[in-house]
Amino acid sequence: MKYIDEFRHPDKLRQVIERMNAYRCENISLMEFCGGHTVAILKYGIRQVLPDGVRMLSGPGCPVCVTDNTELDRAMEYAVQENTILVTYGDMLRVPGSYKSLSFLKAEGADIRFVYSPLDALKTAETHPDKRVIFFAVGFETSAPAVAATILAAQRFNIKNFLVSSALKLTPPAARAILEMGEIKINGIVGPGHVSTIIGREAWDFIPRDYSIPVAISGFEPLDLLLSIEMLLHLIINNIAKVDNEYTRSVTAKGNIKAKEIMNHVFEVQDSAWRGLGVLPASGLNIKKEFETYDAGKQCSVSIKPVRSNPACKCAEVLRGLIESPECPLYKTVCTPVNPVGPCMVSSEGSCAAYFYYGQ
Ligand code: SF4
Repeated sequence: MKYIDEFRHPDKLRQVIERMNAYRCENISLMEFCGGHTVAILKYGIRQVLPDGVRMLSGPGCPVCVTDNTELDRAMEYAVQENTILVTYGDMLRVPGSYKSLSFLKAEGADIRFVYSPLDALKTAETHPDKRVIFFAVGFETSAPAVAATILAAQRFNIKNFLVSSALKLTPPAARAILEMGEIKINGIVGPGHVSTIIGREAWDFIPRDYSIPVAISGFEPLDLLLSIEMLLHLIINNIAKVDNEYTRSVTAKGNIKAKEIMNHVFEVQDSAWRGLGVLPASGLNIKKEFETYDAGKQCSVSIKPVRSNPACKCAEVLRGLIESPECPLYKTVCTPVNPVGPCMVSSEGSCAAYFYYGQ
């Protein structure tokens, strides 16, 4: 299949739904680890057509949502330094930190701007040579290669006023953490499509090997999701633990070698704090010493007040799949996309926002 319409064709969707519903399913829980999948599953009503006995859980797959307040608070401290422009992706601006949000600081006069890509951030540095421009980089393996390439571009073009505050994270350690915690029963995992395009299918081999759970890497169209869920049901019912790949038009066994090389050239793996999961070993990307002239953490010293989080917000539980967004007492009452209390209601890939827009 080549065209998007084919992945949304009612006859094709109906065929998979009929096949799936012929399975005898009892108490099967599947988790999607990608925020894009969470949105697509709710938007296309995938949950409503699953066989009885199958339920979908959302995991920690939204990069904005899992960015810990430690990292966000630090970015806010950078933003209020003299002669500084802080740039980041639009969603981050509205996420409440321990005390304020970046958009609140912007309203107070801090020079904070949103960009669509790291190269836009570099362009901001190029056009404001008298300012220190700090890019607050959040995201997973999908974002990290572009950030690495931008640091290399800054080096090549000798742009000295460009810095990066890296809150970049790696997804397999988060999947392992959820499975190690054992707080919820997970029978199968819908593997992330975009992340796997970079890291490759083989990066998920540890899940069937160490936890005897199958993974099906999925694309983002309704047919992609139905086919990968069907793959999972087939594997679970037949007691087969392996990684299957529905998204073969994008994901290969090894992933994008070039992107991984660039990422590994600029970054080293370090422990990282995740909202809802705590500090996970070897789950973050730090700028290597040889590129430390671009590392905001090395070049700017800021002091951070004690980190706090709003106890009423249940994002931590949502991100671990323990509750669904509507179970949060603030959902749609106090917390809405216009007045978000937590990141899961801000981000376009956040579970609470996805429920708000598509849940019904
Ligand atoms: S509804 Fe709002 S307060 Fe509740 S978990 Fe989601 S983001 Fe947090």
